[in-house]
Amino acid sequence: MTQVILKGEMDFDSLVGRAGSYLPQEKLTLVEEAYQFALEAHQQQLRKSGEPYLQHPLETAAILVDLGLDASSLAAALLHDVPEECGVRLSKIEAKFGTEVSKLVDGVTKLSKISWQGGGTKKEELQAESLRKMLVAMAEDLRVVFIKLADRLHNMHTLGALPPKKRRSIAKETMDIYVPLAHRLGMGKLKGQLEDLSLFYLQPLKYRQIEHLATRREAEQQSLVDQAIHTLEDELRKSGLKAKISGRCKGIYSMYRKMERYASQGKDFGDIHDILALRVLVDKVEDCYHTLGIVHSLWHPLTGEFNDYIANPKENGYQSLHTTAMCFGTTPLEMQIRTLEMHHIAEYGVAAHWRYKDGSKPDMKFEQRIAWLRQLMDWHRELGSTAQFLESVKTDIFNYQVFVYTPKGEIKELPAGSTPLDFAYRIHTDLGHRCIGAKVNGRLVPLSYHLSNGDTVEIMSTKKDKGPSWDWLNPNLGFINTSHAREKVRQWFRKQERGENIQRGKGILDKELQRLGVSFSNREEIAHGFKYETVDDFYAAIGCGEISATQIASKLVAQREQPKVVGVSLAPKPAPSGIQVLGKGELLTQLAHCCSPLPGDEIIGYITRNRGVSIHRKDCPNIVHEDEKERLVSVEWGSVKQLYPVVVRLDAWDKVGLLRDITTLVAEERVNIASITSTDHDDHTTSIFLTLEIKGVAQLSRLFSKLEGISGVLNVARMEE
Ligand code: MN
Repeated sequence: MTQVILKGEMDFDSLVGRAGSYLPQEKLTLVEEAYQFALEAHQQQLRKSGEPYLQHPLETAAILVDLGLDASSLAAALLHDVPEECGVRLSKIEAKFGTEVSKLVDGVTKLSKISWQGGGTKKEELQAESLRKMLVAMAEDLRVVFIKLADRLHNMHTLGALPPKKRRSIAKETMDIYVPLAHRLGMGKLKGQLEDLSLFYLQPLKYRQIEHLATRREAEQQSLVDQAIHTLEDELRKSGLKAKISGRCKGIYSMYRKMERYASQGKDFGDIHDILALRVLVDKVEDCYHTLGIVHSLWHPLTGEFNDYIANPKENGYQSLHTTAMCFGTTPLEMQIRTLEMHHIAEYGVAAHWRYKDGSKPDMKFEQRIAWLRQLMDWHRELGSTAQFLESVKTDIFNYQVFVYTPKGEIKELPAGSTPLDFAYRIHTDLGHRCIGAKVNGRLVPLSYHLSNGDTVEIMSTKKDKGPSWDWLNPNLGFINTSHAREKVRQWFRKQERGENIQRGKGILDKELQRLGVSFSNREEIAHGFKYETVDDFYAAIGCGEISATQIASKLVAQREQPKVVGVSLAPKPAPSGIQVLGKGELLTQLAHCCSPLPGDEIIGYITRNRGVSIHRKDCPNIVHEDEKERLVSVEWGSVKQLYPVVVRLDAWDKVGLLRDITTLVAEERVNIASITSTDHDDHTTSIFLTLEIKGVAQLSRLFSKLEGISGVLNVARMEE
């Protein structure tokens, strides 16, 4: 468990003492000089917590000593607030400590100035710009980020001194930016501490509740854990294995995550057994598997709980064997078995590189581990605009990754949820454009298949210069899930003839409006709604994938759900059906069966003789041909959420399993099917009529694009009576 309130107890002697355990004496001089300099500069300054300011750089440096960083980093940590807090010029630091240290200090100062919480509309851009700055600093010298992370960790420990609002916003920023960063750098220990501290300020009640429960459980199980350690130690010794075994309590945040997961499955905290875990550290990789064998012969392993992260390391380099065994037949106990080196990498991640830098053990995997950082910088150069960059950072970097193999056995890292197309574009843009199919582990898969760790992916491509399909950009179809691939496809379309894009865009819009049964004659109005000057510009944007069909659908709905003043001053209340009759709020309304309007459709009310107002689409033939125009009243969609019946006609090749495919897909979209009928035709096609309970046009649009993806389906459209 992370200690939330850290007492400022670090003094310089113990800092140097600890650093001296791995740094040679002559290097310590630099650290000492930096300390003297900082001491003079900060003099009588106090922190918000009331303690001497110097305590902060000291604690920051101590965290870096724990990471095993070099003397320059420690000196820079001690000096990191001197330029900003004491107004000492950087040139002075450079003159005294040299370029290496002054560059580190400068890097940290710049990172500290980055603002993550700009207000107003430019917030996204500001964040993108901030991320970019941070990544540039990282690419230049990772040590800058280590110092910044240590600085943040100590600030989190002393957050209690700030006003509550400030605490929360800093805790949130830590959770959003620094935790994912520490995760990606593989710095497990620091990440766990940042997570726990953030949770403490973001969800204080939850935090205390979990802490309380965990402490109780720990006390209950301590003797059992001790007994398990003892038994295992004996067995390992008998087999001639040297091991260090410890019992440890999981982090509060990881328990919190587990609780959230359990809550969604209807279980409660009492069901969480693995609060305590054993960690077994051995010398060699063979010893890990040997130990695992002994554990499994002592205690029965739980099925499905074994993970071999040694053979399949996690994306950030983490390696370990995980298993859960029923200790003494009563208590499931999680165990992590790893070598000492793996343990260092699990705790310190890429920072472990510096630990071994000075000779003892070269870290060959280091380059591989920061490859993602280089890749990110490359994309940044390619993508150019900050908005796209932010998108790619959010989707590609702060997501968990999968590792897959090329047929030649090369390993590729992709965000979780990536498809064969994402993979193809990652290998080469041209391979993506020419992709016509994919095999995963030798088996043909759909292009929307989600890759898993360890998959071997083979892309089938055509020699013809065919270019990507526009469908690939439709997010509903799930062909592409990385922004990198999406941008490559868009780029391809942007390079095509403008005339072609306009044609394609018009076709797509026609189809979307037609199949949704929305009549919207004023195209200019839609184009302006999307902030395009001309209809052609708008078509071209659709044609090259900048605007998706779903965006069109939701925009049309959004435009129409805005209340329009119709000249009647009475403020109407929403009627039970979710429709407001303007000026006549209390009237009973019902949806007309002849045209079944949906939210987003333009509607009009018709006052019936004894059933209140019936709601029609404006273009419903019954309304158009109505003689008694005085019976018509203005109505608009209200805000009450409800479901509307819609009849959908689907034409398809008659084949086995078609109905099952359709109903499964509809169910996955959480849409109810009120009725289903079908008519077979002589040409081996069939027409299926579904009455669906739909929330609105946007949902219908999404469902349509998915239904069209079912093999054999020829056409899907909303039925006109
Ligand atoms: Mn600081």
